[in-house]
Amino acid sequence: MKSSYNTLIIGAGLSGLACAAKCQRQGVDFLLIEKQSRLGGRVGSIMQDGFVLDLGFQVYNTSYSATNELLGQAQVDYLRFQPGAAVHINGKFKVLSDPFRDPASLFQTLTFPKATLMDKWKVQKLRQALAGFDPGRCPEDRTSTADYLQNCGFSQTFIDYFFRPFFSGVFLENELSTASQFFKYVFSSFNRGYASLPAQGMQEIPDTMAREIDPQRLLLNTSVECLLPNKQIRLGDGRVLGYEHLVLTGESVQLSSPYKYEYHPVCTLYYATSVEALYRNYIHLFPEDDLLNHVAFVSAIAPGYAPPQETLLSVSVLGDATHSATLEAEIASRLSHFYGGTPKHYRLIHNFNFRKGTLSQKPGFFSDTKPSHPEVIFAGEYFLNGSIEGAVQSGLNAFATLQQRSRN
Ligand SMILES: Cc1cc2nc3c(=O)[nH]c(=O)nc-3n(C[C@H](O)[C@H](O)[C@H](O)COP(=O)(O)OP(=O)(O)OC[C@H]3O[C@@H](n4cnc5c(N)ncnc54)[C@H](O)[C@@H]3O)c2cc1C
Repeated sequence: MKSSYNTLIIGAGLSGLACAAKCQRQGVDFLLIEKQSRLGGRVGSIMQDGFVLDLGFQVYNTSYSATNELLGQAQVDYLRFQPGAAVHINGKFKVLSDPFRDPASLFQTLTFPKATLMDKWKVQKLRQALAGFDPGRCPEDRTSTADYLQNCGFSQTFIDYFFRPFFSGVFLENELSTASQFFKYVFSSFNRGYASLPAQGMQEIPDTMAREIDPQRLLLNTSVECLLPNKQIRLGDGRVLGYEHLVLTGESVQLSSPYKYEYHPVCTLYYATSVEALYRNYIHLFPEDDLLNHVAFVSAIAPGYAPPQETLLSVSVLGDATHSATLEAEIASRLSHFYGGTPKHYRLIHNFNFRKGTLSQKPGFFSDTKPSHPEVIFAGEYFLNGSIEGAVQSGLNAFATLQQRSRN
């Protein structure tokens, strides 16, 4: 390893990887430094007993154009959920989907019991109004999602039976206090693309990005401890590296700016089952349950997530739940109630508790001034929006700034 590089990129989450991939393509002399032993930051998967377990239930939206372009669409095989959701109401699942893309759902969608005709019409109007919505270009109205939906005139019942469970699963908070600007972006993305999973797990996304990066330019298991004067940084092991340009991503931004990130916690539990459930190609919502937010039969979408003859499902519980045997047993009991069998038919594979789930994006997040520094380039979801696409686009923006500063 040299003692000085043209560009140091701190953090190999998606934003850092996107920036590094562009540096590699353009022949920039760079080093990407990551404190963890794996690439991808908050996107990734582990293998356990033949199952692929994503680090939190996450979906890739096939309309993520910057990420698609960076990865080259052919390289990752995305397997899609059906649009909309199967909602558990009064003991039965009812499908609410987009009949234009999911014609088989037409009857169920038209007769969805918790939406008035006016609600269904307003959904179509909202689709049109938010087509191609870009949160960076449209001014923020600084309302919460809850207020925005009420202002749109949706009935409270429809909000509580569809918007709240669906979007609380995205925001990882149940009040819908997230900025409506982010709601508009996510709603528009889901109407343009499909929620999907890479065939071999979410880790495929960072791994594919990293494939083109020279391994000599990756330094894993190494934390950056502090910034030093004269364009130098100190690593956790005491080594000092010099740079011309410094890109800080994710929480490494705090090395130069006092800002504190806030996240919504989530607990993701994976179970294996042999029970055959209906509507397994949809995300399942539970507006009448006080524990489960959503369930996804991940191996029904992407069979590579489970060994042959096994079905893997993920359960998301919002908040900071502890790893407790009571919680695991309670969920198995509820799964047997919703899908049949007995609790013993739901074998716990893993229980993850993520304190740092999705980024908190309150009203004002998109219009308030973000930290900046004349000598440092910042990237990461915080600088655009809390999504895979937001992180990747911010990494690409950091690279563009880098090029501009190099020319000056
Ligand atoms: C549970 C969960 C569910 C989500 N669901 C979705 C979803 O369905 N769809 C979607 O689009 N998005 C989703 N997201 C959001 C998406 O995953 C993030 O927006 C994105 O991964 C953030 O990438 P990043 O590069 O900005 O930050 P990070 O992934 O946080 O990467 C920052 C990296 O910097 C490293 N680092 C920090 N400080 C230092 C240091 N001092 N030295 C060295 N390295 C350092 C960290 O270890 C980390 O690897 C979800 C996130 C979570 C956690």
